[in-house]
Amino acid sequence: MSDIINIAKGVCPNCQEGKMFKERGGLLKFKFPQMYENCPSCNHKFEKEPGFFYGAMYISYAVSVAEGIATYVISSFFFTQKLDYRIMIIIAIVLLSMTVINYRISRVIWAYIFKPKKRLSN
Ligand SMILES: [Zn+2]
Repeated sequence: MSDIINIAKGVCPNCQEGKMFKERGGLLKFKFPQMYENCPSCNHKFEKEPGFFYGAMYISYAVSVAEGIATYVISSFFFTQKLDYRIMIIIAIVLLSMTVINYRISRVIWAYIFKPKKRLSN
């Protein structure tokens, strides 16, 4: 449960203190969020190997599909036809406006999937 809160905060999967992103970025700034290479708090390396975050694309796809379905369900209440082209336009606008958030959240989720295992103390 605490992992879900930490993913939403975007903090380090190792120490749960240091932030993973230098700046938030934003769609209106035409800028994607910038990541730290290492955790500012515990020096944990976020990109374990070159191209590690390519895998975050799968998370991003799943998140986008979930958002698209949620948008369809919510907006279908406001239209009489089941497949109104205006719903598709609304879904496209919502997905475009969520791009930066999806980018950020999918990288954090990916880092948490491969987070270092806690060692048991004797
Ligand atoms: Zn850390």
